[in-house]
Amino acid sequence: MGACLNLAKFVFITGGVVSSLGKGLASAALGALLQARGYSVRLRKLDPYLNVDPGTMSPFEHGEVFVTDDGAETDLDLGHYERFTGVAARKTDSVSSGRIYSTVLEKERRGDYLGKTIQVIPHVTNEIKEFIAIGEEEVDFMLCEIGGTVGDIEGLPFFEAIRQFSQDKSRGQCIFVHLTLLPFIKASGELKTKPTQHSVKELRSIGLTPDILVCRSEGIIPEKEREKLALFCNVRADSVITAQDLKSIYEAPLAYHKEGLDQAVLDAFGIAPVPKPDLRQWEDVADRVYNPEGHVKVAIVGKYTQLEDAYKSIAEALTHGGMANRVCVNVEWVDAEIFEREDAAPYLQGFHAILVPGGFGERGTEGKIKAATFARERKVPYLGICLGMQMAVIEAARNVIGVKDAGSEEFDHEVGQRRFEPVVYHLKEWVQGNYKVSRRVGDDKGGTMRLGAYDAQLIEGSKVAEVYGTGSIDERHRHRYEVDIKYRDQLEKVGLRFSGMSPDGRLPEIVEWSDHPWFIGVQFHPELKSKPFDPHPLFKDFIRAAKDNSRLV
Ligand code: GLN
Repeated sequence: MGACLNLAKFVFITGGVVSSLGKGLASAALGALLQARGYSVRLRKLDPYLNVDPGTMSPFEHGEVFVTDDGAETDLDLGHYERFTGVAARKTDSVSSGRIYSTVLEKERRGDYLGKTIQVIPHVTNEIKEFIAIGEEEVDFMLCEIGGTVGDIEGLPFFEAIRQFSQDKSRGQCIFVHLTLLPFIKASGELKTKPTQHSVKELRSIGLTPDILVCRSEGIIPEKEREKLALFCNVRADSVITAQDLKSIYEAPLAYHKEGLDQAVLDAFGIAPVPKPDLRQWEDVADRVYNPEGHVKVAIVGKYTQLEDAYKSIAEALTHGGMANRVCVNVEWVDAEIFEREDAAPYLQGFHAILVPGGFGERGTEGKIKAATFARERKVPYLGICLGMQMAVIEAARNVIGVKDAGSEEFDHEVGQRRFEPVVYHLKEWVQGNYKVSRRVGDDKGGTMRLGAYDAQLIEGSKVAEVYGTGSIDERHRHRYEVDIKYRDQLEKVGLRFSGMSPDGRLPEIVEWSDHPWFIGVQFHPELKSKPFDPHPLFKDFIRAAKDNSRLV
């Protein structure tokens, strides 16, 4: 959808009091609501941490790395943005202090600043401002979320930059939404507004006045507290929005609409009359989440089982698959390492389907291979994603065609010793669009992977061609190693079809067991493109197969 307002409006979303209040979700839901009123939106994340990108950050600490079509490794909030708005995120939708500083320092080294003294203001803040404005002509609303909370030292240049930005723009082109927490004190039965007052005071001390307060609380905010917040924080009473805890994130657009968030935003910009929202899509989504007609149990056999955020998009995509089939998907995280010591069967029996997700490093891989054996032999639906596909191929090589020492070069590189026959090898050169990309083994740090969207051709008559309903697809990648086609003939003879290939026929993208009800491994990450209102075909059909299997188990 093109822009219908003549100038893009900027909404800056900041957080206070504590972190993890769901700023990303609030931003995403607001984006969805503005779309429901016919506007075009883009969401952006500005992260104050110093890592240049989240690609090399531990998923234990930071949650999943989300990958965009254009190959950026970003914060998982961009996943929320996409899931709620359907707008494909780009490289230019996520930036960190580290990236900003490294650009400024590169420019300094190149002599772009002509020998001037380089300072946070204006050089760093200018770089941030330029980033915020990229592509402003394409949209009606640009929603920019600032990571962290107000008062963090490293966030200051961002807060200063958005303050300046709003001054540079025409009056009324920017608004500020501040998200805080109202703690409930059980002993006195009161919701406390003081932390929010302090947080707003902190914001105002750096020159920012919020137009809208979004207050997370366990229950509704009584009128008295709302008025108090309005008075002490200098916002209008109808701009104090409650964000109550929800059972499903997919209710957020409806819940925020009911609380008046989108109306408050349009009012703050002085937009009148406001177009009526069409919320049917979100009503349908909420209905499917809250009224399932059955349950399926899916095991995710992985390594980062401690932190669900490490597989955020997979968990969401499974939920979407459930919504498409009107079932609730109960996910259990099973630690792959257990199977290295014990038989997998007692742990996997009773699940209607098994998913082996992506991952890096050897730890847990023997367990994942056992999970693949279990699924193949017992005819349990199996979806292998990236490393999960590689494990399925190694499993087939070892146990079906007799390459006993089959493995991945990744694990040999880790210990600097050749132990495996590389059925999965380190790719050094490949084609992306019209370019040839090359790398060496030593390049194994951030940004040297096959990243972003690549095309694949599906083999006619295969299960995946039927699932996708088309012969060519494009999906997002994030990996260094590839299944070697030298075993293709042997594996296909025993029934493991290479049913999706890169357009040049060199890189296997999908494998499937032809005599199995549902066993598919994909080298890419389909979960990154699934949406609640448009579930990914693979997840949709995987859950359908799980549902069919649940009738048998
Ligand atoms: N570690 C594997 C590789 O680099 C798989 C990566 C992944 O699962 N994302 O090829």
